[in-house]
Amino acid sequence: MKISLIDIGSNLTHESFDADRDAVLARALEAGVDRQIVTGTDVESSRRAADLAAAHPTMLSSTAGVHPHHAAALTAPRLEELSLLLRRPEVVAAGECGLDYYRNLSPPDAQRAAFAAQLRIAAAAHKPVFLHQRDAHADFAAILREFRERLTRGVAHCFTGGRSLLEEYLALDLYIGVTGWVNDERRGGALREAVPHIPADRLMLETDSPYLLPRDLAPHPKSRRNEPCHLAHIARTVAELRGESLAAVAALTTRNAVRFFDLKELEIGE
Ligand SMILES: [Zn+2]
Repeated sequence: MKISLIDIGSNLTHESFDADRDAVLARALEAGVDRQIVTGTDVESSRRAADLAAAHPTMLSSTAGVHPHHAAALTAPRLEELSLLLRRPEVVAAGECGLDYYRNLSPPDAQRAAFAAQLRIAAAAHKPVFLHQRDAHADFAAILREFRERLTRGVAHCFTGGRSLLEEYLALDLYIGVTGWVNDERRGGALREAVPHIPADRLMLETDSPYLLPRDLAPHPKSRRNEPCHLAHIARTVAELRGESLAAVAALTTRNAVRFFDLKELEIGE
């Protein structure tokens, strides 16, 4: 059976793909991953993601944003570059942006300023936002709430929480991005319990490649590198947890991603 999936979070500009990026793209297509949204994590990688998407318009779109880890580097001129990138047609969302107090690689006040600034330019560009949050829910929700009415749509990317966090995100009218975290029976318990409760019109799928290799993948690649082609494996697990068919989960998540990123104008698959 031929399924069609969209990987809403693939870090395809990552150096681990430099040697074989075309083969990675071919393997993704073969596995039914017809489109990838390439994540931008700082201004430079956002530009590379946009250029990569422009070079592969039938397969790739991209986001433009600064990850909270890099928030301290977001100066006014860099923010201006980012807002120009957001005007490019292949750039379909702002982000990833948000707050990460787990590692605090940038100081929290710099993270909050960079997050608010990116929500402001996303609203001005009428683009949805691709959101990252770790150990920072209260501040994250407060800042997001301030901008929520001006923003079109938002997705909590790499959602790893349980049912109560899910409810809080749904109250903010967010979409929910599920990664291979769901394949980890050890760490993913709360998420596995929440997955059946994600509304059918809010669920999207992502690999977060090259990170988060699904733990139960067999055979387990020695490189530990995750690839967009593994999205079908994640989709199968999500389908099992929801008591739905793989075809149904593929159809609904693709429909959601097309709506979320406004991909209607683009060709999906062949
Ligand atoms: Zn992230």
